[in-house]
This record gives sequence, structure tokens and C-alpha cells, in this order.
Amino acid sequence: MSIKTALVLGAGGFIGSHLVRRLKKDGYWVRGVDLKLPEFSETEADDFIVGDLRDIIFCKQVIDKSFDEVYQLAADMGGAGFVFTGDNDAHIMHNSAMINLNVLELCKDYVPSLKIFYSSSACMYPEHNQLDPDNPNCAEDSAYPANPDSEYGWEKLFSERLYKAYERNYGLEVRIARYHNIFGEEGTWAGGREKAPAAMCRKVAEANSEIEMWGDGKQTRSFLYIDECVEGTIRLMGSDYSDPVNIGSEEMVTINELAKKVMRIAGKELDIKHIAGPEGVRGRNSENSLIQEVLDWYPSLPLDEGLTKTYDWINKECKK
Ligand code: NAD
Repeated sequence: MSIKTALVLGAGGFIGSHLVRRLKKDGYWVRGVDLKLPEFSETEADDFIVGDLRDIIFCKQVIDKSFDEVYQLAADMGGAGFVFTGDNDAHIMHNSAMINLNVLELCKDYVPSLKIFYSSSACMYPEHNQLDPDNPNCAEDSAYPANPDSEYGWEKLFSERLYKAYERNYGLEVRIARYHNIFGEEGTWAGGREKAPAAMCRKVAEANSEIEMWGDGKQTRSFLYIDECVEGTIRLMGSDYSDPVNIGSEEMVTINELAKKVMRIAGKELDIKHIAGPEGVRGRNSENSLIQEVLDWYPSLPLDEGLTKTYDWINKECKK
């Protein structure tokens, strides 16, 4: 039996580097591509090419044969401080759309042997269904009429449609996940692009009496530990379902509760000072009926378990 081959775009990033590790464990030959090498550990890819996927000439060099599987995770990406201020909107839309346009245009030449995975986001769900923090609706079929609250979400929605268009017109086999707030070790934890769980772990690790929090902390979210994100991604790729599917946790917490959990893990009692800052929608939670139906599996790891591992890692990073 010949060895399966995978191309991971965005392999220098958080999810991409974990995915490469998993694919290697599963016996694949892996090529990773990114603007940068992974920040916190050596890549395990057999071949890693550094370059810019916005450049079609570079894309031709790395998509130079028919891989069995392509995982497209490269995006101009960050947490609320990057995505919701409005300051980075043009870059976010231009850069990520350009990557997806290039990648699909080249992958279509390898139909029917190549299968491609695209990482969309829960940020594409309409704002009007996420106003009530206790009852957000993020079921897959609630996506339209569309009304994402960020340009990042609009680009994801556009690209979802782009993947489906290449499926329809060229017969490209696509798989699309809508990730919901992925966190874990080796995720960005400082510098402005970090997301809420990592930012909370860093703040608690560094504080002695008080931490600052954007907003009143009553907004709700769910957070998915990286291992289950990778597991869901591999399972979705192995399935025959080609419409978008949520990959997220259904354990919804307020941001105040998230902070309390991290404090408990750290063994610290800190005051929370609420300050103005970018917050995003009032409520968001994964809806896992569809993933359960199509994969006969859904994420189930308690938030506390993933948070404990993540806090321990960030706490050590802070002390370096
Ligand atoms: P990340 O920022 O760690 O990884 C993205 C990688 O893409 C980075 O390493 C970056 O250098 C690379 N990249 C950006 N522009 C590039 C370019 N022009 N050429 C080559 N590489 C480029 O983010 P992540 O958390 O690993 O997210 C991976 C994917 O999953 C992204 O598409 C993101 O939008 C999506 N997603 C992530 C989350 C989450 O909570 N982490 C949630 C929803 C969706």
C-alpha cells in the first residue's frame, strides 16, 4: 500500500502544527507550507516550505502534484483584539480571500484524486441569532440570511461558497468545518492576536491582585481543546459529508466563568476589572446535532481539562 500524502497550508500556525503532528502519527507523508515555521516547537512535516500563498507563482511551486489530502488553514487571523476593532479589515479580507482563490484554482487541476479541507469559523454566523447570551443559535442551517458581525466572518462565508462553487463546477471534493474558539498548548498567547482563553491564562499567570477584562464578562462562548479539533477535522475529512459542519464544544460559559475557572486552576483569587474593549457577539455556542449525525462523534472533553493543560503551558511560557 502506498503512503498517503497530505499538504497542510498554514502548517506554521496553531492548529496547522498540531494537525501535522497528528497526520505524521497516522503515517502520512506531509508537506507543510506557511509564512513562518511553528513558533513553539519543531515542525514534524517531512517537507516544510516557507512562502506566501497570496502569490500564485509560489502556490504553483507547492501545489505541484496531486496530494491525497489538502488542509487549507492559512488565514490572516487573530482574536477579538485583531478581528473586531476594524483596523485590520482590509488586510483580513484581501489576504485570506487571495489565499483561498489561489489554492482552489490550482487544486482543481488534480480532480478527482485530491480532497480538500477548508477551515471556516463560527464567526460567519449571523449576529441577529447571537444577541441573547443564554440562547445563541449556531445551527448550521441558521447561516442564512447572512449577517456576520465581522469582515473576518464575511470572508469565511465567501470562501465557504467558493469551495462549494469549485465542488459544483469542477467536481473538487471539499470538506468544510466551522471551528468554534479553538485553544490549547502552542497557541498564540501574547502580542495582540491571542484569543480569550490564552489571554485569560496569561493575565492570571502574570497577576497578583487584579486582571482586566474587555466588557462586562456576561457574554457567552464555548471553547474547544485542540486535540478534539484535530480529531474532528480528521474524522470529517474521512467522511463523505461536504457541507459545512460545526466543530466546537457545547459547554457554554460566560467570560466571567472562564476567568474564574482559570483562577481556580492557578490557585489564585483575583479581582476582575471590566474595561471597554472589542467583544464580538453577546452569545455563541456550538450546536452539535449535525456533527453527531454525520460523524457519529462530537467533542466531549470538559473545558476544565483542556484549560488546565493550557494554563500550565502558558504559565511556563510566561516565566521564560
Ligand atoms: P494561526 O494564525 O495560528 O494559523 C494561521 C497560519 O496561516 C499562520 O501560521 C500564518 O502565518 C499563516 N498564513 C497567513 N497568511 C499566510 C500567507 N499569505 N501565506 C502562507 N501562510 C499564511 O491560526 P489558527 O488558530 O491555527 O487557525 C487556523 C485556521 O482555522 C484559520 O483559517 C482560522 O481562521 C481558522 N479558525 C480558527 C479558530 C481558532 O479558534 N483558532 C476558530 C475558527 C476558525
